[in-house]
Formats: sequence, C-alpha cells, structure tokens
Amino acid sequence: MGPILMIGDTAPVEKSLDSALVWFRRDLRADDHAALYHALKAARRVWCVFLFDRDILDPLPRIDRRVEFIHDSVLGLDAQLRALGNSHGVEGAGLIVRHGHAVSLLTQLARELGVQAVYCNHDDEPAALARDAAARGALADAGIALHSSKDHVVFERSEVLTATGSPYSVFTPYKTAWLKKLAPYFVHAYPVARHASALAPLPAGAVMPTLAEIGFEPSNLHQLKLPTGSSGGHELLDDFIDRIDRYDQTRDFPAVKGPSYLSTHLRFGTVSIRGLAREAWQRMQGGSRGAEVWLSELVWRDFYHQILHHHPHVVGHAFKPAYDDIHWEQGKQADAWFAGWCQGRTGYPLVDAAMLQINQSGYMHNRLRMVVASFLVKDLGLDWRRGEAYFATHLNDFDLAANNGGWQWAASTGCDAQPYFRIFNPVSQSEKFDAEGRFIRRYLPQLAGLPDKLIHAPWLARPVDLKAAGLTLGTDYPLPVVQHDQARQRTLMRYAQVRPTA
Ligand code: FAD
Repeated sequence: MGPILMIGDTAPVEKSLDSALVWFRRDLRADDHAALYHALKAARRVWCVFLFDRDILDPLPRIDRRVEFIHDSVLGLDAQLRALGNSHGVEGAGLIVRHGHAVSLLTQLARELGVQAVYCNHDDEPAALARDAAARGALADAGIALHSSKDHVVFERSEVLTATGSPYSVFTPYKTAWLKKLAPYFVHAYPVARHASALAPLPAGAVMPTLAEIGFEPSNLHQLKLPTGSSGGHELLDDFIDRIDRYDQTRDFPAVKGPSYLSTHLRFGTVSIRGLAREAWQRMQGGSRGAEVWLSELVWRDFYHQILHHHPHVVGHAFKPAYDDIHWEQGKQADAWFAGWCQGRTGYPLVDAAMLQINQSGYMHNRLRMVVASFLVKDLGLDWRRGEAYFATHLNDFDLAANNGGWQWAASTGCDAQPYFRIFNPVSQSEKFDAEGRFIRRYLPQLAGLPDKLIHAPWLARPVDLKAAGLTLGTDYPLPVVQHDQARQRTLMRYAQVRPTA
C-alpha cells in the first residue's frame, strides 16, 4: 500500500478562514488527527484547546485513573503541539487547557480569540451528542461555526449498510461488508504536519492546571504498565507489533502477554485507529493470521459504535426488547452476591482473580470480561446493567458502545449475542484458559499451594490437599456462593419465561 494523498491535498491551499479553534476531546494526539488537519488547512491561525468538563468530572470519585491518564495525555499533547509548532517556525504553540463547564468555556474562549470556526471530531455517545448540540447552538449565537469530522473509528454511523440500506445487527456480515469497503483512502493518515505552520502561539496567561487543581488525587496509574499519552500509545504498539502474528493463538490466555493493551489509548485517541487498522491490514495481506484476527477486533469496535448510533435505546435497555421483561434476582441475597462479585469473593477462582485484576489495575483481559459477565448474569441471575455500571466506573478503557455491546453479548440480550442457553462454566473456562493457574495465583496467592488441577475448583480438594496447601476454605478463601449446575437450570427457566425469539 503506497502513500495516498488526501483528496484535494495536492492543490495550493486557499485559506478560507482567518482563525479557528480545535477542540480536543477523545482524540488526545497531534498526529493523524482529522479535526486538527481540517482546521490547519482552512485557517491562517489555529489554536487548540482541551476542556476538563465539570459536568463529567464532578460526579467521579476523587481518585480516578482515567482522569489521571487524561491529565498526563493532555500534558503530552501540549508538548506534541509545541514541538510541531517549533519544527514549522511557530514559537510558543501548545494547548490551551481550562476547567469548568465545557459549553460555556468553549463559547467564551472562541469569542476571546475571535475565531470564525471551531473544529472537533465526532463523539456519538448520547451525552456527547447533547453537549455538542448545545455547543453548536451557543457558538452559532456568537456567529461561530462548529465543524466536526469522523476520527474515532474507521467506518462510522451509516457508512457500512446492508444491500437494502439498513444498519447491520449481526457481526459476521457487517465484517464482510466492512472489509470489502476498506481501501487505503480510509486508513491513510491525515498529514497534519504539512499545514502546521498555521498553529498560533498560545495566548498570554495560558496555564496548565495540575491534577489537584481540577480536584483529583493521584491514583496507582504510574505503578501500572500503562504508559500514557501519544508516546505511551506508540510504545505499546511497538511492543505489540513484535507479537501480533501470534495474537490468534495467545489472545485467550490471561496469563500470557497476548493482546495489545491499547484499549485505553483507543478510548482517549492517543493512538489513531487508522494507523492501527492500516498496520493490521497490511500484515493481514502479507498472510499474518494474528493480524487478521486483531483487525477483526477493531471491526467489533466499529460494529458496536454503529449499533449505539442506530439503536441508542441499548443504553439502559436490551437490544431485543423481549429481554427487558426478565426477572432478575433482587433483594438482600442478590445484593450480597453482587457485592461478592465486585470484591472477588464468589468462591470461583478465575472469576475472583479477574475481579481483583480490574479493581487493582482498571484492566481486565477480554476472555475474563466474558467469564465474569456471564457469571454475574447466568450464575448469579443478576441484571446485566449492574455489571455494566460497575465496569463503567472501574475500567480504564470504559467505552459506552463496547461495554454495552460486551455486556449485552454475555447476557444474550444483545444484537448478535450468544444464545441464552449457552452458559459458560466458570470451572471449565478456568481449566481451558488458565490451565496451570498462573493467572489465578497472581491475584489469589492464598490458593498458590493447591495443585494445578484443583486450583480451578478448590471446594473439590480433599482435606489432605487443603492442609498441604495451607488453605482453610471459608476462612482464607470463600466457598462457592452458588452451585453452577443449579444456577444454570435457574437461568434456563428465567430466560424461557420471556419466550425469546432468538
Ligand atoms: P486487543 O485484544 O488488543 O484488541 C484490540 C482493540 O480492539 C481493543 O483495544 C479494543 O479497542 C478493540 N476490541 C477488542 N475486542 C473488542 C470487543 N469485543 N468489542 C469492541 N472492541 C473490541 N472494550 C473497550 O474498549 N471498552 C470497554 O468498556 C469494554 N467493555 C467490555 C465489557 C465486556 C463485558 C466485554 C465482554 C468486553 C468489553 N470490551 C471493552 C472489549 C474487550 O474486552 C476489550 O476491548 C479488550 O479486552 C481490551 O484489551 P486490549 O486493548 O488488549 O485488546
């Protein structure tokens, strides 16, 4: 795949605007950035801003890894813009950063700077759409335009439709159509640097607020293996590229360094989805099965984004309405089970180790997300929305579309979900995907002394094995909160009552 010029990029640039402002949100990088590129191309002077939005931040706990990740990445973006300006003869470029209510801050800043237009990238989450509609209105009142572009996915909204023009709700045909439509144009990098001389020096008095000034305390983010900012994203990508060819064989085993760990970077746009898709596509064309499977995961990401766009009712409701009538377990017992699930005290080691992983690091391996989600819904009989909400507050990579899609898949309520009668057995999942108990031992050292074959179901160990392992069940580690076989029967009845159509 050779270098491809963006449409219209070869002609001498006719600037239509005197000045513009780029509003960064979930796209915290200065390279291959749609809105930045369009603004630099259109205007003679371009400022850049990031707004720490109190409407989003105020309800969060005061320690939140994601806010720290964003804060770090905003510092990185400022440095990236400064360097980009310097290398194109502009001294003092950088990022304007403010803290307050996004719409009023944005309108005020756009007026202060006297820009004619604000540029940003699409964000299709319902709350972001409402915010952007308000921003568009407030800016229009001041005679300022708001332009937005696709940047966060390869194909968005209605770009991939069935032959009859409807959105896809089943993944495999969507993926086939997605791959058929893919062409170098769609994954080509926006050549931001080509127009970087239009960056404007920061206005006088621009200061970067500290984490404390926006009301947050440091988390354990810097103790995790999650480098931040665009440089961190590229570090992870470089590391992953060395093992991408084996991704298809390694991706399902939580004790193995198989996946890319790029999800938080994709969430906050510190890496470009076009760059990643291009890399995977090229390697796939070169015959890499690992790259082909990894590209499929990026297609799942686009798939769930277009599902959210076309079916916003999935926020808070089952994709298939019949499933909204399911009677989930409620009351004290259900609350106790939910608390045990959250804290990693279900008595099922793989489930508990996974929950400790998310609690301690904000990350959970994909296989384990499926296992714990299935356990919550189909072993404990709890409403999938409780688990979805827990993930939303604990995942560093929390993304409304992917999280909702993942939960509805596991709960069988979703668009292309697994059938309700397919119920993961948490013990066989453990035996299959963590056969030697390496992942379990990392998070549950009290089980470390059990032999491999017993670590997946410690309640089956004989007293002599427990003694040898120095383990007292019920004290050092809980007995199982439910019996899987009985839970399975209850789930089949629960789902059968709503007479699902799929
Ligand atoms: P890799 O295996 O390296 O995959 C590369 C990228 O592809 C990921 O970073 C992600 O952007 C995308 N991707 C992979 N799998 C999926 C998928 N099933 N759906 C959509 N995109 C995918 N992913 C999130 O990014 N945010 C979430 O909030 C989220 N919640 C989930 C909840 C549940 C119940 C389930 C089952 C899955 C969820 N996923 C979510 C999808 C997936 O688990 C993570 O994207 C993946 O584990 C992140 O690790 P990675 O970057 O190493 O992934």
